[in-house]
Amino acid sequence: MRSTRRSFTKALGLAGVLTLGTALSGGAQAQEEFFSIGTGGQTGVYYVVGQSICRLVNRETEYKCTAPSTGGSIANINAIKSGDMAMGVAQSDWQYHAYNGTSQFEGDKFDKLRSVFSVHPEPFNVIARKDANITSFDDLKGKRVNVGNPGSGQLATMEVVMDAKGWTMEDFALASQLKPAEQAAALGDNNVDAVIYTVGNPNGSIQEATTTVDANLVPVDGPEIEKLISENPYYTKAIIPGGMYTGNPDDVATFGVKATFVASADTDEELVYQVTKAVFENFDRFKTLHPSFATLTKEEMVSDGNSAPLHPGAERYYKEAGLL
Ligand code: GLU
Repeated sequence: MRSTRRSFTKALGLAGVLTLGTALSGGAQAQEEFFSIGTGGQTGVYYVVGQSICRLVNRETEYKCTAPSTGGSIANINAIKSGDMAMGVAQSDWQYHAYNGTSQFEGDKFDKLRSVFSVHPEPFNVIARKDANITSFDDLKGKRVNVGNPGSGQLATMEVVMDAKGWTMEDFALASQLKPAEQAAALGDNNVDAVIYTVGNPNGSIQEATTTVDANLVPVDGPEIEKLISENPYYTKAIIPGGMYTGNPDDVATFGVKATFVASADTDEELVYQVTKAVFENFDRFKTLHPSFATLTKEEMVSDGNSAPLHPGAERYYKEAGLL
């Protein structure tokens, strides 16, 4: 089914879009175009991004959209590349690497990757059980750490940080790869000492972790992190505000990326135009759909965090709206 669908959509030049013609008895034809948006785990913010976009698209346009849960950034980029999905959410660092064929995408360059807009900031969050006495990133050595599920942005970015530190997975007593939906329980049940999650704050999964067990957010700073930030445009300093999570009254310093919304050069121009328009023309409503979206501005969504070229459908809308 999958390969049939792929060749069908390729033939139409509509990556990830399935066009269904419904023959009606009177000879009339209703055309509905279905497409999918790649998100992340159900307890994360990407899932809300995808669901929110689909809600607006389904209401405002002729297109029909679904936003299933996926493994996250890397899984989404790969699904867009293979034509299985039309669009998806991905961290700005992995958008950069996929487009440029660097880091994990070395030898696997996706030069048809296109940016549509950026969304919320995503700090690199490290959450530890208080009884594990982890007060700095370096204290993770020798501990049981959930480093992120395969296909996720957090696992890929964790590998970059570990590389910068000269660490391997062998440096942990355990390096588990549980999904975000499982990690808070693993922390609470004392199956791991700490979890890594690159995700918009505040989010339900970290809230769950800090309310089910005494847990502290761990600062991620120091010379290696400073170097990563100064050498790479897609990393910035980030703060997890004090009081956001139970038992964590003080600001915690870390670094972060941006969530971005991406497509392929093969994704239909009109589709991307309509999706972009649905979000930007219903922007006040979009911003209420998750606390991480509250501070978004249209200007920053067009200018920040996008390193791949803009998709022509998005560009058309931004020009029309005076944003470019
Ligand atoms: N940043 C994570 C990833 O790229 C996903 C975070 C979320 O689901 O909100 O996999």
